Amino acid sequence: MTEPLDEHAGATELRRNAISGKWTVLVPKRGERPTDVGNARPACPFCPGNEALTPPEADAFRDPPAAADSPGWRVRVVPNKYSAFAGGHEVIVHSPSHDAQIEELTLDQVADVVRMYQRRVDFHLQAGARAVTVIANRGAAAGSSLAHPHSQVFATPMLPSLLHDELDEFARFRNRYGACLMCEAVAGADEAPSHLVFDGPVVAWTPAASRFAYEVWLAPAEHEADFRRAAAPDVAGALWRALSAIARVTAGAPLNYWLHTAPNDLTGPFHWHIEIAPRLTTLAGFELGTDIAIAIVDPEQAARELRAAAAG
Ligand SMILES: [Zn+2]
Ligand SMILES: [Zn+2]
Ligand SMILES: [Zn+2]
Repeated sequence: MTEPLDEHAGATELRRNAISGKWTVLVPKRGERPTDVGNARPACPFCPGNEALTPPEADAFRDPPAAADSPGWRVRVVPNKYSAFAGGHEVIVHSPSHDAQIEELTLDQVADVVRMYQRRVDFHLQAGARAVTVIANRGAAAGSSLAHPHSQVFATPMLPSLLHDELDEFARFRNRYGACLMCEAVAGADEAPSHLVFDGPVVAWTPAASRFAYEVWLAPAEHEADFRRAAAPDVAGALWRALSAIARVTAGAPLNYWLHTAPNDLTGPFHWHIEIAPRLTTLAGFELGTDIAIAIVDPEQAARELRAAAAG
């Protein structure tokens, strides 16, 4: 705290606010990271042929097998050059295509992306991370600094607050009702059919207390805490279908999605899920000051529109 700032450049530090209990990662160099969103486009480090612009790759799917850091990959993983957590922050490049969003890829390509999510979650949990969170940002308004569609993997030494709170809710619900909170939600005990977007091995619905307009959650119909055990084609189909419907209904609004899966040393109940948050509005003082969301679209109305878009 007393050293000059330049001695901190590149060093990352995890800090917890003792009053709010919320975590902050201090990443002094992150403000200097390159961006091509909204600016003239420099060479894209995620396009085939530009592999030398990224740190050496951590993983890739190549068919036929070829040397690392050469073109010919289908999905490529590289450490984040401007990492929030040393060793535990990676970028998963969805495909060689600079412009194709998930819903513009083939289902086989999306299944590859899902399989890579599973592989990297497994890698980091095996390496001793407490929790692994996979996220995707689309659009500058959703925090994306590079246009080439990609996801990010964050392996953390502690439970992120959100996951911690979810684990508490799962435990509380089971203690009270002897059942899995998410199984109940998926089975529609309190929300379906008016909140259902589509059914299947992975179900999509708009939560009754959505925090974002057109927010969609995906979870397996069969109880499963660990995303690594999911059938990749089922997840791919659901993710593709949900993102297609959201893109149609929101005219391609910026969005984030994130995966919550079981952390290491899971002792209580959990059920993996993906939360998709279109970003039609900006978080403002009320949301930041209270942690209470303002939803501008009724989730039942959102479900009606998304159901129609997913069907057509
Ligand atoms: Zn690119
Ligand atoms: Zn469950
Ligand atoms: Zn969650």
